Amino acid sequence: MDFEELEVNVKKTIDRFSLISPADKVIVAVSGGKDSTVLLYVLNKLGYNVTGVTIDPGIPGYSDINLKNLAKFCSEQSIPLIIKSFREEFGFTLAEAMEVVKHMGLQLKACAVCGVFKRTLLNRSARQLNADVIATGHNMDDEAHAFLMNLLKGNIKDSARMGPETGLVKDNRFIKRVKPLYFIREHNIRDYSQRKAFPVYYNECPLASSSFRYSIRSALRVVEDPDTVPNIVHHLLEILPLLRGYYFTEEKPLVCEECGEPSQNRLCQACTFLHTITKHLKEKNLSSQ
Ligand code: SF4
Repeated sequence: MDFEELEVNVKKTIDRFSLISPADKVIVAVSGGKDSTVLLYVLNKLGYNVTGVTIDPGIPGYSDINLKNLAKFCSEQSIPLIIKSFREEFGFTLAEAMEVVKHMGLQLKACAVCGVFKRTLLNRSARQLNADVIATGHNMDDEAHAFLMNLLKGNIKDSARMGPETGLVKDNRFIKRVKPLYFIREHNIRDYSQRKAFPVYYNECPLASSSFRYSIRSALRVVEDPDTVPNIVHHLLEILPLLRGYYFTEEKPLVCEECGEPSQNRLCQACTFLHTITKHLKEKNLSSQ
């Protein structure tokens, strides 16, 4: 896939699924990795009004490199970049949060905790910036992995929220989330990023290997022929209208009483984690005084 093919593919996905309008203010969730960096670059090149937002979980030997690369990239491309961190927003880093999780004997992986906090901070930032859309760097491989994860966990309802635009129902209270790299394979994005010589750290997050996604990805590498990932995603798209029809409900989704984000319970997962972790850290500080 050459540069132009990839860019045309992104534009076609945006137009086919009405992901972004020309007047939209677009927040691009950037991590410093290849996918989100390529997405930010291509959307900017296509003329959309983009701002990069990155969430720093404070992962030693990883987050600093990504922040430095992003700052360099955005300054070179003249794209605004907003940096939010777990430390500033919540009062602890991911490493500190995971110490609490371990101490309490909770069966939670780092990616689960990190993902929940990142998502909530990203939504909060997007609202503060009056954004219309949040664009994420999920590619075709990511979508296939997520679908298989849902199947293996018996969570098929979660797959009804998948697709180029996420969510089961449109709801004006929540900012639209879109995946413009939906039909692009991971190796094509890597190739684009490397040939453009973007300042990107290509190594995995040191905490990723403990995740379920990592196991699925490794398993899929063993069985994959070139059509496996596209087949999974195209089949998902075929059944998506049925899944959405089946799981659709007229009821408005609940919102968290504290942060106003979509939630299945009175408090969302982020606020629940936040209470547990801050309470534990406070008790620990008191007992060490
Ligand atoms: Fe967070 Fe997991 Fe991503 Fe690492 S791989 S940044 S722990 S979500």
